[in-house]
Amino acid sequence: MDILQREGGEDRAAARQRMVERQLRARGIRDERVLAAMEKVPRERFLTPEMRRRAYEDRALPTDHGQTISQPYMVALMTEVLRVEPDHGVLEIGTGSGYQCAILAELGRCVWTVERIAALSERARGVLEALGYANVEYRVGDGTLGWPEAAPFDRIMVTAGAPRRPERLLEQLAEGGFLVAPVGDRYGQDLMVYEKLAAGAVREHSVCKCVFVPLVGDDGW
Ligand code: SAH
Repeated sequence: MDILQREGGEDRAAARQRMVERQLRARGIRDERVLAAMEKVPRERFLTPEMRRRAYEDRALPTDHGQTISQPYMVALMTEVLRVEPDHGVLEIGTGSGYQCAILAELGRCVWTVERIAALSERARGVLEALGYANVEYRVGDGTLGWPEAAPFDRIMVTAGAPRRPERLLEQLAEGGFLVAPVGDRYGQDLMVYEKLAAGAVREHSVCKCVFVPLVGDDGW
C-alpha cells in the first residue's frame, strides 16, 4: 500500500467499500454496474487537498469557484435512474470536479462533458486523464445549448439546477433515451427523469427532492 492511499490514516479502498454498503446499498441502490463504478473511482482525487480526508463522507463537499461535488448517494441515484448501457453516448452538463463524469465514463461508451468555468474543466480533465479515462470529450461553454455536433445522445445528465424543463437538451436526446436533471427554483429542485418517446412525446417523473447549484446559461438562470 503506498503512502498516498494511506494519506489521512485510512485505507481508501476500504472506505469506498463502506460507502457503497452503508450509503448506497442500504438506501436502495441496486444496479451492480453503478455500485461497482462507485467502488472503483477514487473520489478523493477530484477534491481539493483540504477536502480529501472527507471524500467518503455522506455529504456534498465544496470544490473551487463556489461549486460542489454531489453527495455519493445522489451521484449513484442519478446514475442508476439514467440506465447507462456500455454502448451509450452520454452528454453531461456541469463537469465540475469530474467525479460524476468518471462514473459515467465507467458505464458508457463515451461521455461529452460541458462546463462553463474553464478552470474547473481543465482541472477535471487533468484528473480524468491521469486516471486513464480516454473516452471523454471536454468543452468549455454554456451547456444549456448542449453539444449539437455530437447529438443525438443516448443519455443526458444535467448536474446543476435548471429553472424549467431543458427543452434544448431534449431536442438532442435520441428517441428512447433518458435525460435526468434537477428542475425547480434556486433553493430546491425535483430530480426529474424525462424519457423521449416516439414523435417527440416526452414522459416525465420526479424521483426525489434535491438541491443543486444553479444552471447558469441561455436556457438556464
Ligand atoms: N458533476 C459535478 C458536479 C457539478 S456542480 C461533479 O461531479 O463534481 C455543477 C456544475 O455545473 C458547476 O461546476 C457549474 O459551474 C456548472 N454549470 C452551471 N451552469 C452551467 C452551464 N450552463 N453549462 C455548463 N456548466 C454549467
